[in-house]
Amino acid sequence: MSVFRPAIDRMAGYAPGEQPQDTGWVKLNTNENPYPPSPRVIDAIRRTAEGRLNIYPDPHATAFRRTAAALFNVDPEWILPANGSDENLTIITRSFCDAGQSIGYPYPSYVLYESLAQIQDCGVVRLRLNSQWQWDKAKAAELRRSLRVFYVPNPNSPTGTLWSADQLTELLPEKGVLVLDEAYGDFCSKPHRGELLKDARFENRLVVTRTFSKSYSLAGIRFGFAIAHPSLIDGMRKVKDSYNCDAISIAAATAALEDQAWMEANRQKIIATRGRLATALAGMGFCVHPSEANFIWVTHPTGHHREIYEQLKERRILVRYMRFPDGNPDGSMLDGLRITIGTDAEIDRVLAVLPDVIAQATADAT
Ligand SMILES: *Cc1c(COP(=O)(O)O)cnc(C)c1O
Repeated sequence: MSVFRPAIDRMAGYAPGEQPQDTGWVKLNTNENPYPPSPRVIDAIRRTAEGRLNIYPDPHATAFRRTAAALFNVDPEWILPANGSDENLTIITRSFCDAGQSIGYPYPSYVLYESLAQIQDCGVVRLRLNSQWQWDKAKAAELRRSLRVFYVPNPNSPTGTLWSADQLTELLPEKGVLVLDEAYGDFCSKPHRGELLKDARFENRLVVTRTFSKSYSLAGIRFGFAIAHPSLIDGMRKVKDSYNCDAISIAAATAALEDQAWMEANRQKIIATRGRLATALAGMGFCVHPSEANFIWVTHPTGHHREIYEQLKERRILVRYMRFPDGNPDGSMLDGLRITIGTDAEIDRVLAVLPDVIAQATADAT
């Protein structure tokens, strides 16, 4: 006998990437920022900790919303802070998709969307991406008619593919919302600042989500925010916990946003390192997918991706090995490696061991 709801019994649960708790790893598997957060963030955390932790935080995170609104050129009523952008994804699923209705997302991308829908007993439709990591327009047009929420990471993971506004209009559900998950939005050559929110083609049914975990170096502080027309934010606010963000993370996130120069300097370093890594890997025979994010997706002509991952791990370098059904009816799979852009020293270490790693991987596989 199970005491769980059937939907919970049926689901597997989301498995996050490996998070080793010992030191000495070159950790390039979950797209964290290799650089520390702004010193102003540390100051803000210290000041908050020395302040009044005995009282509840501001339930609306007013100071944060004011700062974020100015940066994204909207009124504060357009901003909903959350305990990590994953919490906003939960709030969105609970707000807009009833049991029995369905959400959609491009596949491969971020499979958490699927777990959130399963908790809610919603259906899930995968919009399959082809070998160019693009969707079929006719299929998208068909899905728009019935889906309540369409989630799209832009840029996408694991490839760093960036879709244009014109392409994204193809995914707006007729009776639902389009969610642009901009976790990696700051790493694009031309970073977005919420321009699409005012684009009439999205009819105020667009939600943009942002996180502090990647570009602001704050994955250890759980903080993210959604930006949408107040008609959507007002309803979503009813779904969140009253005190979903704690005083320390509100202060940290506000200070991080206020120090744009710090984020921008790290962003520039990461983009430069991304180019250097891509060139070096291509020189070693890897096929490197062009990326607008802080990671790159690579495949090797030997196809020994799992063995390369394992050989790197033996040398205490963690990258992400990924394997997906490739969409063919015969059940075949495609796989590859997603490598987060680390510091130059970390990337040099990867490049130094790779010739040996590839030789060993090939020996292991045969
Ligand atoms: C990292 C990531 C998130 C998670 O953001 P948090 O603020 O850490 O919860 C959301 N979406 C995508 C696509 C991500 O890669």
